[in-house]
Amino acid sequence: MPDETNPFENFQTQVKTAAERLELDDGVIEYLTTPERVLETNLTVELDDGSLETFEAYRSQFNDARGPYKGGIRYHPWVTREEVKALSGWMVYKCAAINIPYGGGKGGISFDPGEYSETELERITRAYAEAIRPIIGVDRDIPGPDVNTGQREMNWLKDTYETLENTGAPGIVTGKGLESGGSEGRVEATGRSVMLTAREACEYLDRDIEDTSVAVQGYGNAGSIAARLLDDLGARIVAVSDSSGAIYNSDGLDPRDVLDFKSETGQVAGYSGADEELSGEELLTMDVDLLIPAALENAIDRRLAEDVSAEVIVEAANGPLTTGADEVFADSETVIVPDILANAGGVTVSYFEWVQNRQQFYWSEEKVNSELEVLVVDAFAEMVDAYESHDAATHREAMYLVAIERVMKAVEGGGFWP
Ligand code: NAD
Repeated sequence: MPDETNPFENFQTQVKTAAERLELDDGVIEYLTTPERVLETNLTVELDDGSLETFEAYRSQFNDARGPYKGGIRYHPWVTREEVKALSGWMVYKCAAINIPYGGGKGGISFDPGEYSETELERITRAYAEAIRPIIGVDRDIPGPDVNTGQREMNWLKDTYETLENTGAPGIVTGKGLESGGSEGRVEATGRSVMLTAREACEYLDRDIEDTSVAVQGYGNAGSIAARLLDDLGARIVAVSDSSGAIYNSDGLDPRDVLDFKSETGQVAGYSGADEELSGEELLTMDVDLLIPAALENAIDRRLAEDVSAEVIVEAANGPLTTGADEVFADSETVIVPDILANAGGVTVSYFEWVQNRQQFYWSEEKVNSELEVLVVDAFAEMVDAYESHDAATHREAMYLVAIERVMKAVEGGGFWP
């Protein structure tokens, strides 16, 4: 009996479904759904009070047929080997879908960073950087940020690597601060691709974005920026949530004001501009045109999917729908813009950052945003073409068809060796 909440099984089902439509052999499907290697390590770190604590940490290198392994580092108590494997696999097909020359990887440490001081977080990050140093490299594996990591952690990672390697190598990691070799537009990039794909989906469905109500689950980096950029396009953000709860205003919330409130208080619950507070589940099933899950995996399962009423779901998070939920939506009118396209803005601008680091020539924010828009709009059109030409069951399957064909072309070009 498959476990609906195992993200790695969900990932494998998604790839297999598309690979079977392409009539690939079982051995090839096994290759496409299996990581090349997973480093599992334990980091023993001294805490501020002098005691020692050991943290489980991982780096999964899934596939590098199209370029160096690429993927973020997550700090969260739910990080497991299975989750890291799934996230690294999604990176392979995300980079192929958006058509940047990377493979897929992902890493993580299983702990709650909120319970540690900044000096402890620095020691944990530097210990992790030291542990993965033998397997990463500017042309081999390039980490980046993910849930609960950002510029600060990426700067520490780069500094540790460069110090131990006795070299300058800003392209070893992306998502750095601007002064440490980061790119303009990187912080906003994931929310921007969510906005762009939502805009393209509205056009595809002949829907006026200015007449679209939006609910966002997860008011962090991806969710809050997507909300702000969609508000700029004229959409009405009626509900947002974070781990503290959900808030609702039928006339629309001001996303900037909500973010200011969250920055001050650490939560969206209690925001004075809301008419009503909702439960997280009520937000996901409310009567809204566009739903953006932007928190973590498995937000919507089969049971909840039956009650979702949104016309479009744009997956800002990785793997927010279980396979059970996917089956429910495949039989409904709801259009899903899959994670491997919707949130690909983050890795795409990471790629631009890496290119700028290597050329030592830095782009303006306008250039970053316009190059990103071209890739997102092209990939959306390729997904729609594949949906029609392959008679795919879902837009997710269609995007995987495009991505798998690209990975297979690279594999066939190089062949299997030895
Ligand atoms: P983040 O930590 O900035 O934000 C996550 C938000 O989700 C937080 O506000 C948290 O309170 C909220 N949350 C957690 N559990 C929740 C729940 N049950 N209900 C409602 N809210 C909940 O993280 P992020 O960087 O925005 O990442 C969010 C998702 O987007 C993840 O799946 C991540 O892998 C994906 N993603 C992020 C990027 C990026 O560049 N940041 C790129 C690609 C994909």
